[in-house]
Amino acid sequence: MSAIDPSATDAASATDTGQTRSNNQDACGEFSDADGARLFVVADGMGGHAGGAVASRLAVETIGKVFRTSSEGPEGTLRAAFESANERIFERAQESEDLAGMGTTGVALLVGEGEHLWLAHVGDSRAYRFRDGRLERLTTDHSLVEAMQQRGLITAEEAAVHPERNVILRSLGVQSSVEVDVTPIASEPGDRYLLCSDGLSSVVPEPEIAAVLARNRPAAAASLLVDMANQRGGPDNVTVQVIQIPGGTREEAIAPRVRAGAASAGRRLARMRRVALAAGLVGVLLLALVLWMVATH
Ligand code: CA
Repeated sequence: MSAIDPSATDAASATDTGQTRSNNQDACGEFSDADGARLFVVADGMGGHAGGAVASRLAVETIGKVFRTSSEGPEGTLRAAFESANERIFERAQESEDLAGMGTTGVALLVGEGEHLWLAHVGDSRAYRFRDGRLERLTTDHSLVEAMQQRGLITAEEAAVHPERNVILRSLGVQSSVEVDVTPIASEPGDRYLLCSDGLSSVVPEPEIAAVLARNRPAAAASLLVDMANQRGGPDNVTVQVIQIPGGTREEAIAPRVRAGAASAGRRLARMRRVALAAGLVGVLLLALVLWMVATH
């Protein structure tokens, strides 16, 4: 684990309406505070004709605003940001019949100067980490199917096609208060993080997401992932953010093999020295034998 330089973090976002929806109710944003820390947010709105888009936009705006102005530590900041977004959306929903019942998911990654990143989430938008060739999901969906899976009632395969797979158990703005999951994440140089709405995770299998993150910088990865969701019918709005922690680049990935090569060359040299030493000893013994024979005859 080592300290992170947020300013050297490479990141990109992409969002798309998809192939079947008429409007994009997802939203995303990227913010920096006065200390140079960075915050990435994805929100997937739901409810009514316009409500979903209003809710997700309000969530991203409010979370960003609290992040930029908060003087608390990362955990307190994220909690306050999500709670504030919840309140603002809930209040706005009371003001207009069109917006009644609107809500949104929220997933946010805070990259500061410490050794940890911080993750906050509500709903079924996800965060993943790609490290050492492996994709790991960092969030647990607050959804009916995830809860059923955890109780052993259905399998992952059944969850993926379950008729109620869109039912989420926690969201921002639907109730007057919300429980937010906030977690520190131990980061390593070269880690790649993905925030996404279910428009990606419900249609693109994880091994394919991993392959894209393995081979591409954030800008290319973000646009490829959105394309892949659309190629699979784009049944939902799709939003992705890809964040790459500096260090651990391709050069560094190659270095261990180079060092392994150097080590085996070193072993070859040592073996040659041993052979030379043995040959030298035999030579000295032969010379001694010749001298002894000459001296004794
Ligand atoms: Ca969605």
